[in-house]
Formats: sequence, structure tokens, C-alpha cells
Amino acid sequence: MKTIRTRFAPSPTGYLHVGGIRTALFAWLLARQGQGQFVLRFEDTDKKREVEGARDHLIKSLKTLGLKYDEGPDIGGPFAPYTQSERLESYRLWAQKLIDAGRAYADPYTPEEVQAFRDEARAAKKPFLYRNHRPENPPIWDGTMPLRFKSDPKAYDWHDEVMGDLHTGPEVIDDIILIKSDGYPTYNFAHIVDDAEMEITHIIRGQEFIASMPNYLNLYEALGIERPAIATVPHIMGPDGNKKLSKRDGAKDVLDYVRDGFLPEALVSFIATLGWNDGTTQEIFSADELIEKFSLDHVQRSGARFDEQRLTWINGHYIRQLSMDDLYVHAAKYLPGEADTFDENYRRAVLSLIQERLKYFAEIPQLTRFFFTDLPVDPALISSHKQLKKLDPAELKQILKTALASLEESDFTLDDLTERLNNLLETTGQKPAVLFSLIRIATTQAPASPGLAETLAVLGKETSLRRIDAMLPSL
Ligand code: GLU
Repeated sequence: MKTIRTRFAPSPTGYLHVGGIRTALFAWLLARQGQGQFVLRFEDTDKKREVEGARDHLIKSLKTLGLKYDEGPDIGGPFAPYTQSERLESYRLWAQKLIDAGRAYADPYTPEEVQAFRDEARAAKKPFLYRNHRPENPPIWDGTMPLRFKSDPKAYDWHDEVMGDLHTGPEVIDDIILIKSDGYPTYNFAHIVDDAEMEITHIIRGQEFIASMPNYLNLYEALGIERPAIATVPHIMGPDGNKKLSKRDGAKDVLDYVRDGFLPEALVSFIATLGWNDGTTQEIFSADELIEKFSLDHVQRSGARFDEQRLTWINGHYIRQLSMDDLYVHAAKYLPGEADTFDENYRRAVLSLIQERLKYFAEIPQLTRFFFTDLPVDPALISSHKQLKKLDPAELKQILKTALASLEESDFTLDDLTERLNNLLETTGQKPAVLFSLIRIATTQAPASPGLAETLAVLGKETSLRRIDAMLPSL
């Protein structure tokens, strides 16, 4: 059996959103499963659409997710170069073979003339086919005109590793452009040449290419190239499930997510399960598990829905698995500026308190600011609180004074605080939703915090008492 060789072949025309890297992940998994190779190739033949910085961004995204490629533009390999604009000589040689075999010809028409053919077809309510206008005596191709494939229309049956057995009739086959008038090949031609020269065994790509597949099959035949296995993965749909995901749906790119404190392991697990499962209800997979379990025949044929909440949930799961040291390494830089003057032990204690409910690191400043600075007293926290707003201020003041008196006696160890808070429920005759909320608001001025006893223990006696004191006059 041939070793598996897969490739990720992005065009550097923009920043790839998180879904766009899914084909790379699938291709990488397939290569890793078969002890094969995973190749990165830049398809930069559309110079007008090229976006500066897109190449670096793509490389960085792959590296961040741990999708290490074995050959590529920046590291070379046995089939270098891996950038299409540096492979023009190859395309010319293969094009010449087709010309010599009478299977390619110069397109003599101006774009306006081709447009007129199109309009004619539309007026006649017929699909436009360029081959209906194939010139009888095309000029010699001198590289200034587009070079077109002379197709051989026929029906095809083929197997797609994801979509299953497919069939099309001859009417969808046309004379596609191989080389444009600017000298660059089209994607349609270049990827076939490159995949053959790079000995790619499996193509994994998005649904947008499936309609062109019959033309590719026709071209493989004319070139005498054995086609790789093809796996067409369906679109990723936006959160409402109705249309293709776009950046407008809030789908950020991989590096944005990492910047916001999403862990690469979580992103990999999330991306892999956009339209794939292992046949069970398991939702979270490590990279090793994915290598073991991934298979193209479990990729679903209908669009996968992009659900950012699921990503957030997976990320929370991975954050909870982090050891304290790892959490600190990842998360310390997200602490609010006010944390700089506190020592490492204190900062670790704060992070450890929020680890349980943290979904991504960019939430850290909002969740922890009160540990590092006295926030101004906010009366709205009481007036908008379901239980507290029902009590009269004098009563609130009384409860808080009782609490203060008890806390003044505490050594602020967790055990002592826990016991005191429980006793206070009895002495004040209040429910936790009243008593603990009131103490929480007084000591944090935040709408939520980790467990109250734990929070007070970390804040320490001096800070806690000072804040309660500051709150009392406002009641
Ligand atoms: N260059 C194509 C794109 O970025 C790649 C398609 C393929 O994987 O063959 O859409």
C-alpha cells in the first residue's frame, strides 16, 4: 500500500476563520494515522486577491494548533517548491503535453465576446457552455491568451470518501481555462498537476469544489494522471444553521481565539467535531484520540453547525484539567493590570479560585478585578438583587453589622470562615441568598464571585473588613 500523503492547500487571500482550518486538521489526522506525510502548499495564482501577511498567518495558525507539516513552502521537501507561483514551469510543461495531444487550445475571444455568448445562452434559457463556441482554427498559443482545455464530454460515476457514490452527465463538462492570460494557471489546472507531482494520495477539500469535479475527472484522463481519493467536506453553517458561516457570524480566526485564551487542544477538539463524530456521543477528543479514531466515513454529509458555546464549553473542560502550574503559565498574563503589585502566591490563589468556572482566559480581568483593587460601592448591586431589594436598608445594615462583628473575631482561615458564615445564618435568621449575597456584594462589589468563604480567605481579613466598613454608610 502507498503511504498516505495529504495536503492543505490554502490560497493566501485572507485570514482563515476557525472553520477554514478544518480541512487541514482532517488531512493532518489522515496522514498521522497512516504514518504518512502532510504537505502545506500555497496556492497563490490569483495575485489580485492576495492579502499581505496571510501566509505567515496561515503558518502560525497551523503551528499553534500543533498541525505540523512534513513538507511546505518554508521548510522545503522532496517536491519543492511548495508555492504555486514558483512552479509555473511545471504547469507549462503539462500544458504543452495537452497542446501536443490536441487537448488544449488558445482562447481567441475577448472577455466581452465571451460575455456576449453567455448573454445569448441566458436569453435562450440554456446553460452556457464555452465548448459550444470552440473556435475552429484557434491561433497558436503564445501565452498572451488564455489556454483552454479541449474537453471530452461524458458521464461520470465516481466515489467521494464523504459524499458517497456520485454521478453526473456529459452536460456539465466544459472547456475550462488551464492557464490565464496573465501566465498563471487556474486552480482547476494547477492543483491537479501539483497533487500528481507531489504524489498526494488524498484530497480533502470543501464543498465549493464538488461541482467542478466532472471537469477534473475529464482533465485527469486527458493528462494520464491517476486521481487521488477525494473527500469533500460539507460547509460549516452559521449558528442558525441556514447559511454558510462567515466572519460576520462572529467566527474568529484561530489566532484570535488563542489570543482570547482558548487552548489549542480545545480548538482542535472543537474543529474536529464540526461535522465528525466517532459514532458515539463522545464530544471531546484529544489529538491522540483523534488520530486513533478519525475516519472520513464518519464525516457527515450535511452542513455542520458552528456553535461557539460548544467551543466555550470544551475550553472550560480543558481549563479545569490544567495543573495549577500550567494554569498560572497560561493565565497569569490575562490578570488585570492592578494584579502586578501582588505576589505570585496571591495571584495563584486567585486563579485557582476561578479555575472551576473559567471558560476562556480573556474573562479573567472581569472575574478577578475585585481581588486586586477596591471597586467603588455600587448601590445597583443591591437594588437589582432579587432578594436584597425587598429588604429595608435598616435591616440590611443590621445584618451586615452582625456579620462584621463575627468576621472581626475570625482568623480568616477557610475552616473558621465556613463555620462562622454557617453560624451567621442562624444568628441572623436569614437565608444564604440574602446573607451571603450581602456579604459578597460588600466585600467584592461584583455581581458574582467564587464561593464566599474561599473568596474572603483569599481577600484576607484587612481587605474584607475595610470593604464592609466602606459599604455600611451607603445602606
Ligand atoms: N486553494 C484552494 C482554496 O484555498 C484549495 C482547495 C483545495 O484544497 O484543493 O480554497
